[in-house]
Amino acid sequence: MILDDGGDLTHWVYKKYPSVFKKVRGIVEESVTGVHRLYQLSKAGKLCVPAMNVNDSVTKQKFDNLYCCRESILDGLKRTTDVMFGGKQVVVCGYGEVGKGCCTALKALGAIVCVTEIDPICALQACMDGFKVVKLNEVVRQVDMVITCTGNKNVVTREQLDRMKNGCIVCNMGHSNTEIDVASLRTPELTWERVRSQVDHVIWPDGKRVILLAEGRLLNLSCSTVPSFVLSITATTQALALIELYNAPDGRYRQDVYLLPKKMGNTALWGTIRFFE
Ligand code: NAD
Repeated sequence: MILDDGGDLTHWVYKKYPSVFKKVRGIVEESVTGVHRLYQLSKAGKLCVPAMNVNDSVTKQKFDNLYCCRESILDGLKRTTDVMFGGKQVVVCGYGEVGKGCCTALKALGAIVCVTEIDPICALQACMDGFKVVKLNEVVRQVDMVITCTGNKNVVTREQLDRMKNGCIVCNMGHSNTEIDVASLRTPELTWERVRSQVDHVIWPDGKRVILLAEGRLLNLSCSTVPSFVLSITATTQALALIELYNAPDGRYRQDVYLLPKKMGNTALWGTIRFFE
């Protein structure tokens, strides 16, 4: 079995030791990127064993994306900036699982939260949950914080960074380091001042400062702790996927990418609920 997170191990075995696949019963993959790579291999007809996509399992989506981010967004912001949330105007880009977690936590502490979305269903959900749906360009001049959670790239552009007000905090909770165009800030007219670990002031010629956290990488992974309970749930789900692939009778799984069977997902959920009894 291959237990992977990001697809690097799978890639390494493909490149260096392809013959190993003769004895491999399956791959279990945890991350968005790794799953994407597996689907590409499958599409190209190059996947030589069954693979299980744990990233899209309900326990991962809820525990890692929604509930973990709901807790760690506040921890990451507090540890880096000591900011007070009450009354602050915040824009959260993306109202998927991560965005929902961030918005809930910020609202609970009294921040005034608005949301940007490109998907009408998620935009409607934001609206019905009491968040104003806006375009980033409409609010970028007035907000105190901009948080990206989209999984997309260039969600915050240099032009928008130019228009932010002095002291605006900018950070990313979504995909690795693509969401904020940080590269565009590394130009001679802007000065970077490292004020503490993972916190940079980017200073414009007129003295305006934007507070950039973790250089646009994931705020919670760089600057906060992640509850071990969440990691435990994810690891358990992976173990269930390994067991399912290993014990499956020949022919149940072909050389393709599968989601964790609902029965296994439910086992993981009931197991989790037992922790709270
Ligand atoms: P998701 O697909 O549920 O939500 C993403 C949302 O962003 C979607 O609703 C989509 O319509 C919206 N979106 C996409 N492009 C946009 C844009 N340009 N402007 C506004 N909205 C836009 O995904 P998710 O589960 O919320 O995960 C989001 C990202 O966070 C992924 O890259 C995921 O890998 C990452 N993630 C981070 C952590 C963490 O610990 N920080 C944990 C889990 C997942």
